[in-house]
Amino acid sequence: MAEENRYTRCEACGNDVPGYDTVHLSYDKGSRLLCLRCFNDMISESHGIDFTHESFDPITLQDVDGINHEFHFRVHLLGTKVSIDAFELKNGEPAGYEFQVVGDAEEDLLNLFKKLFERLRRAMVQKHLKEDDRFGPQITDEATVRGHIEWDEDTDGMLPCLVIDGKEISWEAFGRMLMTFEGFHFQLEIFDKSEERQEVVRKGVKNADGSRDSTDSGTT
Ligand SMILES: [Zn+2]
Repeated sequence: MAEENRYTRCEACGNDVPGYDTVHLSYDKGSRLLCLRCFNDMISESHGIDFTHESFDPITLQDVDGINHEFHFRVHLLGTKVSIDAFELKNGEPAGYEFQVVGDAEEDLLNLFKKLFERLRRAMVQKHLKEDDRFGPQITDEATVRGHIEWDEDTDGMLPCLVIDGKEISWEAFGRMLMTFEGFHFQLEIFDKSEERQEVVRKGVKNADGSRDSTDSGTT
């Protein structure tokens, strides 16, 4: 579904750009709001880097359940490195799936974008949660969950909100899902959003579909 962007005016070029595509620069004498194109031009000039800003149009990809995800992109020059973020929007703000790739600023930006695109495609065929009629969202039989950690407004940031399969899952809801696995062990790895970790060694996990006798799990 197409989302409406909230536009802001860049104080350098005067163009109206989506709020997520801007940076706020603070100086001794005040601050300036710049679009990322102007910001990146300024950084490349000051660092003497051979860099040409590119804007990438939104792309819609379908996940394994046939649901469309519209990805928006943001290119951010960070000295000699450059990042490209991919994210969905909710009320004009990044939400849902979020990914990042980081490369050398002088590397071909299109190659870096291709890396990000492949990552999006891999994410679209991965599902970590499934809907159970009786118990609601459950962890799939793969028993592996990937996602990212977000601020939870409802708890004023005291507890995390997890984004799994592009959906916001409260810490409490995630806890309930884990109770299907009572007695199992787990391994939790935390890493930067520009990294991707696919390999998980697992053996013998079974009965993770919510069908387990709930009288011994304390979930009811
Ligand atoms: Zn600008």
